[in-house]
Amino acid sequence: MNGERLGRLRDLLVEARVEGLIVSALPNIRYLTGFTGSNALALVTRDDTVFFTDGRYKVQASLEVRGAKVIVAKASLVRALMGSVKRRGLRRLAFERRRASFELYDTLRRGLKGCRLQPLAGAVEKLRAVKSAAEIAIIRRAAELNSKVFETSLREIRPGRAEAEVAARIEYNMRKLGAEKPAFETIVASGARSALPHARPTHKLLTEKELIIIDQGVILDGYSSDMTRTVAVGDLGRRAKRVYQAVLEAQLAAIAAVRAGVKARDVDRQARITLEKHGLEETFVHSTGHGVGLEIHEAPRLGRSEKVRLEAGMVITIEPGAYLGGFGGVRIEDMVVVTERGCEVLTPTPKDLRVL
Ligand code: ZN
Ligand code: ZN
Repeated sequence: MNGERLGRLRDLLVEARVEGLIVSALPNIRYLTGFTGSNALALVTRDDTVFFTDGRYKVQASLEVRGAKVIVAKASLVRALMGSVKRRGLRRLAFERRRASFELYDTLRRGLKGCRLQPLAGAVEKLRAVKSAAEIAIIRRAAELNSKVFETSLREIRPGRAEAEVAARIEYNMRKLGAEKPAFETIVASGARSALPHARPTHKLLTEKELIIIDQGVILDGYSSDMTRTVAVGDLGRRAKRVYQAVLEAQLAAIAAVRAGVKARDVDRQARITLEKHGLEETFVHSTGHGVGLEIHEAPRLGRSEKVRLEAGMVITIEPGAYLGGFGGVRIEDMVVVTERGCEVLTPTPKDLRVL
């Protein structure tokens, strides 16, 4: 598994005309070597891969790391890495432009005088965007577990409970039902607060006849899931129902546009065109979706100006929303896997408006 991934990365390094890549982002290190700990660096050259960690992870690294030589550094990982670079006589290396800290870059620059350091953006992320069948199988289970948690938690929603309490119950159910942990801070936003796309749960109490946005995700075997549903306690007014139907229509239109070869921005466009028909285009203030995998937000991004073409095996969210200040908001989010002919929705939770 790691060998194939490292092979594809080496092709990208040849393309970038570098002799190797210094990998500092932990999700990228995990993807390439299997290591799940919190302190590591990796040096991927055209000929070999060296993995660096500290003494706390000696045993864990021997159990997890495959396809790389493991070096347990006595002091700083960067110093150990620079030693390997010098021993190999490498003169042109890339580092992760968006992920390396300034401190790492500065130490490398000072310590590797004879080596040219070149920023490289998104190389490992590009590989990670297209999932293997095994990865898709894990993500499918993560999406299913997330939906199960949602169904269980819905029974615990009632007027008079605070948003924060509902969020806490959801996160409790995640672990209870088998998740590693939440993939992000669970969002429960009710009434006028549902007009805030990234609201934090507060001690506001749920009341009848208001929109409630619930955005939740679990991590299972390292992979994230992500789903949003908008529900109501007690019957909603006409305006809220109209907004709900418009967002659902936009979500279905965007899903229908997903297919290998289509530009990400064209999927986003379908959601916007649909909301425009309902006079809601101004209320959709974020992009239509994002990739999901070892991280909750990863490549590709489905925004207005994203020219990247979707590929079979990409796992993305489709999550248009409408946010009306002072009134409330609706968002509906599923995860889908891109196929040659379209896509498969991985989120099993129904999307008709649920009135609790
Ligand atoms: Zn979400
Ligand atoms: Zn999302």
